[in-house]
Amino acid sequence: MSFRPDDFDAPLERAITHARSWLAAEPDRPVRPTDDIDAVLARMPSHLQQGRMDPGVVVDELADAVVPGLMSMGSGRFFGWVIGGTMPSALAADWLVSAWDQNSALRFATPGVVAVEEVAATWILDLLGLPAGAEVGFVTGAQMANFTGLAAARQQVLTRVGWDLDLLGLSGAPRVTVLASEDRHATVDLALRYLGLGAPTLVAVDDQGRIRPDALAAALASNDGPTIVCLAAGNLHSGAFDPFTECIALAHAAGAWVHVDGAFGLWAAASPTLRHLMAGCADADSWATDAHKTLNTPYDCGIAIVRHPAALRSALGTSTSYLIADETHSDPFETVPEFSRRARGVPVWAALRALGRSGVAELVDNLALRARQIADGVATIPGARVVNDVDYTQVCVVFENDDRTRAVTARLLADGVAWMSGSRWRGVEVLRVSVSNWSTDDLDVEMSLDALRRAAA
Ligand SMILES: *Cc1c(COP(=O)(O)O)cnc(C)c1O
Repeated sequence: MSFRPDDFDAPLERAITHARSWLAAEPDRPVRPTDDIDAVLARMPSHLQQGRMDPGVVVDELADAVVPGLMSMGSGRFFGWVIGGTMPSALAADWLVSAWDQNSALRFATPGVVAVEEVAATWILDLLGLPAGAEVGFVTGAQMANFTGLAAARQQVLTRVGWDLDLLGLSGAPRVTVLASEDRHATVDLALRYLGLGAPTLVAVDDQGRIRPDALAAALASNDGPTIVCLAAGNLHSGAFDPFTECIALAHAAGAWVHVDGAFGLWAAASPTLRHLMAGCADADSWATDAHKTLNTPYDCGIAIVRHPAALRSALGTSTSYLIADETHSDPFETVPEFSRRARGVPVWAALRALGRSGVAELVDNLALRARQIADGVATIPGARVVNDVDYTQVCVVFENDDRTRAVTARLLADGVAWMSGSRWRGVEVLRVSVSNWSTDDLDVEMSLDALRRAAA
């Protein structure tokens, strides 16, 4: 087999045809998948055949088999988990990332895409109001962004007490205390487990899931070893933001590192009307966010931001004889857990370039506006009640009792016009609406409220 450029034509043509038909049908197809996984599997060959197959035919077979099993996560009526769709600029740039196929580990080796990522990083720090000198790493999602920030945190708090983590590992190390809210995201716990730090010590929250400064102060006072404090920008259920100014001052006075999980909330800082929610957050030491949620780039892209470059490089960097590293700048591989990776910051650049500063602000404002409209509409549905303060993108709805909430959720999902997640918050079943898609408009809101009204009737 030798390389012939023409060989790419047919499969790429087929891919663009299938992509276009998928995207064109998005407004009209049910949001939920029409087939379950058994139906999809039944359409696929179970054994790998002996010989080669034409790549264009492979692409056709793939699309034909899977499309009925796809969830319309890019729909303006998809409000499940916290997901986000894909903007045209970001999707097209993502295709180029695959075609260019750069291993984006080193400035010297792949200067084209690393330059784009460095520009995107600068823009992100500026838009999110974070310190210009912070390191930015493009990871798979907020899970790994949380891991990255907490890895730098662990390194720094142990170094401060004279423990050589790289040489000695954690065995016999002073105990690192991690304080996190009762309402933290599960990925914080998972990141702490990856890091060998065990379960966090939980700190009480208020009725919106915000960490309580008095409880944090008490927790900080009751230990004097190396400490990390995890705060949240954007509670999964309420969308609430922790009181950063007070909490970060308390944590820093106690010598703790502050990490902020802002998977979707950090973007509030890009909006002049929502920025107040982020007040004080820029004083933290590390931040985790996603591009594949609020910024609406394709999966997958998370962003890890660390104020202290030396701590991050020391936690995740490495040196070998065959890497020609840059002496003056961090290379991409030193700021993320991965060694080799795709240039996932390129779609971020494209999305930001297409939107501009005002476009990013409008994107975030629109999500919050739609959440407000949905909350207002829910209030007119008999038996339905919004249980959170809708200040950002999340709306939690309850019906008369848990059974009713579960039943309405099941009927809504079966109906297919919209998708919202069932969840449990503060001890009760809730129907959670997360507005994360750039394209959600008046009609989507209206159709989704009608679907909810039908499900509740
Ligand atoms: C989605 C989310 C995460 C995890 O992000 P992934 O992109 O799924 O890795 C962490 N924290 C919060 C608050 C989230 O909403």
